[in-house]
Amino acid sequence: MPEFDLLIPKTLAEALEILARLGPDAAPIAGGTNVVVAMREGRLREKILVDVSRLAELGGIQQIDGEIRVGGGVTIAELLEEPLIARFGGPLREAAQEFANPLVRNRATVAGNLVDASPAADTAPPLLVLGAEVELEGEVGRRSVPLDRFLIGPNETARRPDELLLAVRWPLPLPDSATAYQKLALRKGTACSVISAAVMVEWNGSGQCRQARIALGAVAARPLRAYAAEEMLRGRGLSEAVIVEAGRLAAGAAEPIDDVRGSAGYRRRMADLLVRRLLSQTAGHADSQE
Ligand SMILES: Cc1cc2nc3c(=O)[nH]c(=O)nc-3n(C[C@H](O)[C@H](O)[C@H](O)COP(=O)(O)OP(=O)(O)OC[C@H]3O[C@@H](n4cnc5c(N)ncnc54)[C@H](O)[C@@H]3O)c2cc1C
Repeated sequence: MPEFDLLIPKTLAEALEILARLGPDAAPIAGGTNVVVAMREGRLREKILVDVSRLAELGGIQQIDGEIRVGGGVTIAELLEEPLIARFGGPLREAAQEFANPLVRNRATVAGNLVDASPAADTAPPLLVLGAEVELEGEVGRRSVPLDRFLIGPNETARRPDELLLAVRWPLPLPDSATAYQKLALRKGTACSVISAAVMVEWNGSGQCRQARIALGAVAARPLRAYAAEEMLRGRGLSEAVIVEAGRLAAGAAEPIDDVRGSAGYRRRMADLLVRRLLSQTAGHADSQE
């Protein structure tokens, strides 16, 4: 391990003051499951780490004013224990169930996953379909950024060096909505997504989509929304033909690469298949055929 200094602020105000003073020379560390790996591999430039894992202000999962608010320091294991997530964050709970392994889930945080901004970050597709925003606080105050604008590219976000990710928030899903999620990986546990997908469909009472959101992980430089497919679904019933068209459009949004886990061609085919499968689930009928 390279040498580093570790600062352990006791309050959010103290942590923010340190980050503002040290700027890009310092990086927050929460669970450390990305940071420690990056340090060992020589990929972390910062020599000063600011431990934010004990800040009470980053904890807690609450229902406030029609929204669910998850503190940035909440761990993946805590997501799994929380009834509000089971009730109002279905796809996020499903992603948490398949995240890494119990040891990593006990340390890994939501903020760490989003700020690390891996194209395969498993909390991102569920949070994208839930319509999440991230809450950031830094020198100039607090701001909210839609998650889709926060995630820019591999290890690149809209976060400024002086900012902490305080929380992620999303509106309570409407009662007439349905969600689905699936991750494909090379193993059942401790495995990075080869591809993941999440969908949310809000129904209009006449069996048509009022709104649909579709998100894909590990098929582009960042987790992405399949906007063309979402637009096509607006006002339509989920017939077999419509589902097939949505799968085709979603796969068209993917810009996958070949890597050790899978080929670009496989990922594109699976984007199509998973979107069809998940839409079929939300519509309550079986998979549409290949
Ligand atoms: C064995 C193993 C298996 C894994 N499996 C998965 C998996 O299945 N799915 C998956 O998505 N990921 C996986 N990961 C990656 C990692 O566990 C997750 O990305 C995790 O959520 C990171 O959270 P952390 O708290 O450990 O982040 P850290 O390593 O502490 O930090 C990660 C980044 O976030 C920044 N950061 C942390 N907290 C804040 C904050 N509050 N505000 C601003 N910036 C902050 C840090 O500066 C750093 O840039 C795995 C990692 C390992 C080692």
